[in-house]
Amino acid sequence: MDVVELHPRLHLLRFSVGQAYLWRDGGEGHEEGLTLIDAGPAGSGAAIAEAVTALGRHPRDVRRVVLTHFHEDHAGGAAEVSALTGAEVLAHRLDAPHVRGEVPGPTPVFEEWERPLHERAARLLPPGDFERPARVVELSDGDVLDVGGGAHVVHVPGHTLGSVALHLPRYGVLFTGDTVAASPVDGTVMPGVFNLDGRQVLTACRRLAALDAEAACFGHGEPVTEGAARALRAAVDRADRGAAEAGGAGRVPD
Ligand SMILES: [Zn+2]
Ligand SMILES: [Zn+2]
Repeated sequence: MDVVELHPRLHLLRFSVGQAYLWRDGGEGHEEGLTLIDAGPAGSGAAIAEAVTALGRHPRDVRRVVLTHFHEDHAGGAAEVSALTGAEVLAHRLDAPHVRGEVPGPTPVFEEWERPLHERAARLLPPGDFERPARVVELSDGDVLDVGGGAHVVHVPGHTLGSVALHLPRYGVLFTGDTVAASPVDGTVMPGVFNLDGRQVLTACRRLAALDAEAACFGHGEPVTEGAARALRAAVDRADRGAAEAGGAGRVPD
């Protein structure tokens, strides 16, 4: 696992598949504490706890794990992190049953070109089932968490039904989960892949662009630390143009 400082309060944790983020509160009259946004694949818990220690904090300082959605590359390590740190686990109420393992999550509706990509990513994940957090605090759109001076939960269905983004207006930071990604080839910002509903993802990207965040932290691909809203708008415009070209007269209306 790689650890990269993006901001004095923000570190990127990079796994074999996907990324998580560690946000540090404290000072300036704020409560001390760490918040993890996503928890990596199963087996990541110990490495995350070590990273916290290496940053000069105690694993117990991790107060919460906010899951952007239930997929294994984001929620797989949640139970381990919770056991090692005592952190509570939070997820949108529509994804929470999948995070707890009560109900299998729905499989993405793949575009043909996504299938080989997904197979390759799946091979990098640990095989078999994994431990699930017994308790998940359920989030809804508009909830505000005591993180970064007030972190707004933005429900952005499309990648999964219960996908959320987390927006920290005070710092201009947006955690997008897999609703948005950056290309592994050239860092171009784009709507995420492996979705339940690609059109909903575009709507979600528009909503996230309108938040005017300066920095955007994706589930996959290099974060954008400047001009994130502009990059998001450009991503939506490109996707709209692509859809219009692919659509044409035979397109079924919404
Ligand atoms: Zn995902
Ligand atoms: Zn992912």
